[in-house]
Amino acid sequence: MRSNRRGMALLAALISVLACAPADEPPPAGQAESANGYTAGAPGIGDPDFPADGNGGYDVAHYGLVVDYAPTTKRLEGVTTIQAAATQNLSSFNLDLSGLDVRGITVDDAPATFTRKGDELTVTPPEPVDKNAGFTVKVTYSGVPKPAKDSSNLGTYGFISTADGAFVTSEPNGSKTWFPNNDHPADKATFDFAITVPAGVTAVANGELTGQPVTAGGKTTYRWSERHPMASYLATATLGKFDLRQGKTPGGIPNFAATDPKFKTSLDKLYTVSGEVTDYWGTVFGPYPFSSTGGVVDDYSAGYALENQTKPIYGGFEPDESIIAHELAHQWFGDSLTISRWKDLWLNEGFATYAEWLWSEHKGKQTAEAIFNDYHKRPATDPMWSYPPGRAKPDDLFNQSVYTRGGMTLHALRKAVGDQTFFQLLKAWTAGHRYGHVTTESFIDLAEQMSGKDLGPLFDAWLYQPRRPA
Ligand SMILES: [Zn+2]
Repeated sequence: MRSNRRGMALLAALISVLACAPADEPPPAGQAESANGYTAGAPGIGDPDFPADGNGGYDVAHYGLVVDYAPTTKRLEGVTTIQAAATQNLSSFNLDLSGLDVRGITVDDAPATFTRKGDELTVTPPEPVDKNAGFTVKVTYSGVPKPAKDSSNLGTYGFISTADGAFVTSEPNGSKTWFPNNDHPADKATFDFAITVPAGVTAVANGELTGQPVTAGGKTTYRWSERHPMASYLATATLGKFDLRQGKTPGGIPNFAATDPKFKTSLDKLYTVSGEVTDYWGTVFGPYPFSSTGGVVDDYSAGYALENQTKPIYGGFEPDESIIAHELAHQWFGDSLTISRWKDLWLNEGFATYAEWLWSEHKGKQTAEAIFNDYHKRPATDPMWSYPPGRAKPDDLFNQSVYTRGGMTLHALRKAVGDQTFFQLLKAWTAGHRYGHVTTESFIDLAEQMSGKDLGPLFDAWLYQPRRPA
């Protein structure tokens, strides 16, 4: 994610001070163990900063999303089919879903009972599920999705209706605004989408189209498939009138660009720059992890962009090269390599910010060193120095320090270990954790192992101390 507004950080800081909502209640404790040894899955996945996000007791392998959306009424009719495996003997389990009406749920085709409390949807299957057993949950639901507005200094996110469709950006926990899921990046899964919209409207989701759109009865159904594991916040079904350009990058990766008619003049630049950036990052970060690349510019003034997997989305502005470089770097850092805890967000944003500097250097503009030096000159009173980026705060997750000081951390590392080791490290990092999960500790371990240096003091000063490193 990256803001496109200079004043946004200040505004967000102000809002977070003014908003000052009471802290979330802790999730209810799981039910006591029953006599037969089957217990309820936890209502949170175990991220202490976001205790209600995600759920315990199972791991999702695949989501099949069927969505029918009417822009005129803003009504969504959905069926979500979840293939999961139990990680404990499971008497009941939770899904995350915000608003919307649940019409019915089956588990392995048998009707299940369910209750709702806040954003927690508790499902009790007719038969408990054995540990390690696979099971399939099917949730039929409908309603008018309401985007999230309440957390992490982000403004509005999730499923956001627009005049001609919807703009869907769900970081960090907004996918529950449009489909029931395990809404935390610690549980990644593959996705299939079947999205039905009025004829003339285009539906853009992650991955690739599987076949031509089918129109019948005034409606068109688009089928998309993301075959690589994806965090649920990266799932999108962005809907509207779009001009499209499709082809391949010079390096041969399928490339899909879509722009709202208001941004039609951006289409060729979006397509060309996205292709060039994707190919270049492949030489710097290692092979591109997914089956296609591209981007979407929609006419919704989000003021930010989000790295939706294979389909970064730019909210209401023509993206420049720098922000395209940022969002496509996230395809490696954030999307392929995914954090298990939000506190490690610098592994996404620090890397994507440093990628902007590398792109500038690549293009013969300011070097990363020069950009680093400009920031380092900031006075000791600059707010960046009092916010340690290695520990992103849940009420100020996307603080500018996580981006800028996170990027500076990588530059300090580069200077300490030398260019050769640094760039080998980036490739080893992406290769070693491709499609998996990462932690700051595992990055520090790899950096020390590859450089043969004790980097503890460097990372401590840059990531964890509330003051400007020397
Ligand atoms: Zn970002």
